Formats: sequence, structure tokens, C-alpha cells
Amino acid sequence: MNTLSKPPIFRAAVQRLRAWWAAQDERIQMSGRRSLWAALMALVVAVLVTLVWLAGRYEISQLQATLERDTADAVSDIRISLSRDVQTLQALQAQHTSLKTWSAQALGLLRDNRDWLRLEWRDPQMNIKAFVDSPLRKPVFERTPRTDALTETSQSCQRARRFNGPAYSTSYYLPQTDGLGMEVMELCLPQTQEGELVGYTIVTYGLQPLLAERLGNSFGRRNEVSFTEADGTRLAIAGTHRRGLRLFTAQQLVDLPGNTLVLRMDSRRGEPNLFPNVLTALVTAMSIALITVMVLLVKDSRRRLKAERDLADALAFRKAMEDSLVTGLRARDLQGRITYVNPAFCDMVGLPAHALIGRNAPMPYWPPEMVDEYKQRQAIRLAGNVPPREGFESVFMRADGSRFPVLIIEAPLINTQGQQSGWMGAVIDISEQRRIEEVSRAGQERLQATARLATVGEMASLLSHELNQPLAAIASYANGSLNLLKDPDALAQSQDDVHMALRRIAEQAGRAGRVINSVHDFVRRRDQTREAVAPHALIDAILPLVNLQARKLQVNVVTRIEPRLPAVWCDRTMVEQVLLNLARNGMQAMDRPECTGRVLVLQAKRAASNPEQSWVELSVTDVGTGIAPEVAEQLFTPFFTTKAEGMGLGLSLCRTVVEQHGGHLEFEAQASKGTVFRFTLPAAPLDQPSTSAGKA
Ligand code: ADP
Repeated sequence: MNTLSKPPIFRAAVQRLRAWWAAQDERIQMSGRRSLWAALMALVVAVLVTLVWLAGRYEISQLQATLERDTADAVSDIRISLSRDVQTLQALQAQHTSLKTWSAQALGLLRDNRDWLRLEWRDPQMNIKAFVDSPLRKPVFERTPRTDALTETSQSCQRARRFNGPAYSTSYYLPQTDGLGMEVMELCLPQTQEGELVGYTIVTYGLQPLLAERLGNSFGRRNEVSFTEADGTRLAIAGTHRRGLRLFTAQQLVDLPGNTLVLRMDSRRGEPNLFPNVLTALVTAMSIALITVMVLLVKDSRRRLKAERDLADALAFRKAMEDSLVTGLRARDLQGRITYVNPAFCDMVGLPAHALIGRNAPMPYWPPEMVDEYKQRQAIRLAGNVPPREGFESVFMRADGSRFPVLIIEAPLINTQGQQSGWMGAVIDISEQRRIEEVSRAGQERLQATARLATVGEMASLLSHELNQPLAAIASYANGSLNLLKDPDALAQSQDDVHMALRRIAEQAGRAGRVINSVHDFVRRRDQTREAVAPHALIDAILPLVNLQARKLQVNVVTRIEPRLPAVWCDRTMVEQVLLNLARNGMQAMDRPECTGRVLVLQAKRAASNPEQSWVELSVTDVGTGIAPEVAEQLFTPFFTTKAEGMGLGLSLCRTVVEQHGGHLEFEAQASKGTVFRFTLPAAPLDQPSTSAGKA
């Protein structure tokens, strides 16, 4: 179409490149979406693992706390039972002062307390008064004589004497006859009578039996219970040693007078135990939540994808629509800058989109001579004045400098917030439409002229036919009479004949006169079509036709009508024809390249009037070539024309029509250049209602 259109190969290459780019874009989006999903999964797994770990830690801490509690309970149990032992021994001291009864009672006590290995009664100097070994086992001091193992006992008894209360010895190892040995500890209880120390009761405890007896049933079932030294060396162990994955340990001090033992409790628990308790519920709940969230997310992403596809379709449709439009589209922001143009607009003005977008007044497609006028128009538009709905006509310039008429329909551009963000204009190139209008107008004019000629011709032939007979008769009577008058001899007898011929001539002349009269009558009959017409109605009626030609010849048509003019009494059609003729002649006189500032003025004003009749003057002024004196002489002569297609009947008919109305048609050279044609028409009688509506 113009410089913008590209060769098809180039266009195809561009399309392929676009398709490839769109595919890449989609792939990037897809992979982006996939990595998002992967990240989400990783996050969920991480959260789950953390939860499992935390739950495990919680369970472990719970177990540890339980074990600590158990150990504390075990220590308290040992203390209570040991203090009960002290009470038993005090009872023994009090009840049995004779050796015999003491031994029997002591034996009974040893039988009842399996962790008591030996019971001794010594005097204040630590000499043995009596002793009984546990009947439930071999005597413990068999391999090591008792006298060799008295150091700890003596120390505890000294302490007991000092504090006057029970005292425990530090534990020591006692080898046995079976090759093994055991850790033992002694309790020394001083015996007083009336404030005097009278002896000691000493119990030898086996630490292992002590643990087994006093804690075995309660805590030993689940744990391994042991007494240890401060460095962790085990002195005695009791209870079950379970196999398990994880070892839990708790330690507590058993603080006894004279001795401090460390009670240690070991518990082995398998970690898998944790799962049934906490994690099944947790993982199930988490999985359900996870699946729900996933399902929702998938649904949501499907919805989004669909919306994206719909949007892309809608955009593609919009783009295709804009590209296929032959109407140019142009959007401007509120400052008048072009923000969008469609391909049709670019084709129309012959400029690429990038040369237009962002431009403000003066636009590159404005003809330079119109810039001022268009700037004003834009200012009016930007001030917020809504343009006419039916649009307005304007002239644009192509990149090659040629002008073309356009119809612009503009409307405010409203954004999604309901606020105006600019103006949207649809621009239609109407040069073709104008050409067709012009062709039809010229055709119509020719048709009218031909019809008028045909009427004139018809009338002429009718007249000639009608007049031919009387004229032929008159001619032959006249010839006959002349012949008769040539012969003087026959004059007397031919006098009657000459008389008769002259009568006939008079008759035929009368007939010809009647024919002429009938034509006159026909013309006179038009008088009856006269009516009162407002002058502006006459001008309004011809304006559409005048404008049509004015647009083509780029003539500015100006009308000046004096206010309160009287109506004129005229044959409306004829006067309109006169005005149209004069206007057309004026415009044709301006149709020269050197003629600039083409203006045609149609004016109506009061003319000089006399008291009986007031007159209205109508004039048509042009700034054209003017009329040369030799042309002026023959201006009203029928068939005089200087135009190739002219008929030369216009002005003569105009004058006839004006004069039939009693008016007068004249012309005059304009002061600067051009010509003014003016004619007068009588004002209508005041009692006549005037017609003001236009006909065209
Ligand atoms: P036509 O228009 O068919 O030629 P007209 O009788 O209307 O016949 O005009 C006769 C001639 O008068 C025209 O050919 C033109 O030369 C001249 N003429 C008429 N009006 C004007 C005018 N306004 N300015 C200059 N010349 C004119």
C-alpha cells in the first residue's frame, strides 16, 4: 500500500520468529512453574522432617523426665527403708539385753532382711559380744577374717558415737570363698543406757542384695539399677538389662550419714516406640492437610492457566481485530500525546508506529498550513469538550506531502477505574467517498443541464412546428399578393383577392400571436408558484450542494445573513437555481493553483427600497480570476462560455429569472480580486406566511 508494507518473505520470517519466541516463553513459564512446585514439595518435606524430629526430641525428654522421677523415687524408697532398718535395730537393742535372746531375735531379723549379711553386737571398745551371720547364705567373713575388715566399721562407729546416731561406713569390697566378691557397707548404731554408751549394733549390708531387695520389684523390672562411685565405677547392679536402641540414664545421690552413694538408673528404650504414639497421628494429619492443599493448589493453578489462556486468546483476538481494521485507530493521553496507533492508521498517514507514538502537537500528519487551526481544536478537546458523536471532518497529510480528507470520530477513553485517561479516535479516510460524491454530483449536474436543454429543444421544436404553419401560410399569401400587385392590368379584378390574402395574413398572424401567447401563458403560469420565502432558507437549501463542491476545491464557504430580513416573494426553485449557478461560477473562478485563501461569501441583506416596495439583495462574492473586459461584454449572451464543458446559458437564464421577478442582476469587480454578483428580489407582502424550511 505504501512504504510501510514489507515483502512477504520478510513478514513470514518475522512471524516464525514470533512463534518461536512465544514457544520459548511458554517453556520458561512451564519450567518456572515446575520448579515452584518442586520448591513447595521440598518445603513440605522439610517441615515434616522437622516435626518428626521435634516430636522425637519431645518424647525423649519425656522419657528422661520419667526416669529422673523414678530415680528420685528409688532414692527416697531406699532412704525410707534404711531408716526403717534403724528403727528395727533400735527395737532390738531395747528389747534384748541378754546375749541369748538377742541372737535368736537377730537370726529372725536376718531371715527377714535378705540384704543383711551379718549382725554384730559389740561393746564400746569394739570387742564383739555376739554376732549372727545370715542363714540365707554362706558367712561373708569366711575368706577375709572379720578383724581384717574392721577399719570402715570402726570409723563409722566413731562417727556414730560422736553424733549419737546411726552412721554408715563407706562401702568396701569383700572377697568370697567362691572366688567372687561383693561390695558391702555397714551401719553402726550406738547403744546407750541412761546417756552412757553401752555398745554398738552393726549390720553389714550387701549393696547388690540391697538394690535387689529394695528396688528390684519396683524399678528393677524396667531398668537397670546400680550404685556407682563418683567416677562412674559400678559397685553393685540389680534389675533387668534390656536390649534397646537408646540408653537413658539418670543419677541421684543417696546421702546417708557417713556415706554418700550414687544411685544410677539405666533404661533402654527403642526409638521406634515413638512412632505409634505421636507421629502416626501427626503424619496422617499432615498428609491429609498436604493433599488438601495440593488439590486446592492444582485446582487454583488450573483456573489460573485457563484464565491466562483466555486472556491470551482475548488479546490475540483484539490484536487480530485491530490489525484487520481498515479504520485507523489512534489513542491520545490527556496531554495530547499519542499512546497507540493501529496498522491501518500507520498505512493511512504513511508513517511507522514508532514515529507516531509519544508525539504531541504538531503531529507529523498535520498539513503545515492547518497547524494553527488543529492546535486550537486539540486545545478545545483537551479542555474536556466532547466532540460531536457523528464525528468531524479534517484533512491529514501523508508522508509524501499529499493531503486527504478524513472523518474523525473521537470519544473519551475510560480506564478500569472509571476515570478518563485520554481520547480514542477512529479515523476514516474519506477521499474515495469524496471522489464518488463528486462524480455523482457532476453526473447530476450534467443530467440537469441535459434535461434543461432537452426541454428548451422540445419547446423550440414545438414552437417552430406551431409557428411554421401560420408563417408558411403568411409567406405564401404575401407572395401571392405581391404577384397580383406586379400585374397592373389585373389590378382591378385582383383587388378582392389581395384583400382576401391580407385578411388571411392577418388571421395567420393572429394564430401565431396566440401560439406565442400560449407560451407566455405557460411562463406566466409559473407566477402562481411564487411564495414568501425567508432569504436564509434559500441559502440553506443550496448549501449542501455548494459545500460538496467547496470541499473538493478546498473553498471555505461563508454565509452572512442580516438579521430580521423580510421574506422574499419568489419562485423558490428558480431563485435557488440562480444562487447555485452564481456560487458554482464563483468557485470555478477560484479553481486555480495560484488562488490561495479561497473563500466564497453568500450574503443576504436589505437593498435600497422605495416606499411601495422593499427589496432584499442576495450576493455571491468570490476571490477568483475576475472578469476580463472582453468577457464582460458578452457575459449575459446565451451560449457564451470560456469553459471547456460550459454551456454559456447560466448567466443569461439567471438574468431572465431575476428580471421575471422584477429584480435586477449585476456584477462588479471586487476591490482586491475576484467578482461579486448581486441581484434583488421583492419582499413578500406582509400578509403572506413565509416558508423558512430548507428544501435540500
Ligand atoms: P458557463 O458557466 O456555462 O460557462 P455562464 O453563463 O454561467 O456559463 O458563464 C459565462 C462565462 O462568464 C463563464 O464561462 C466565465 O468565463 C464567466 N464568468 C461567470 N461568472 C464568473 C465569475 N464569478 N468570475 C469570472 N468569470 C465568470
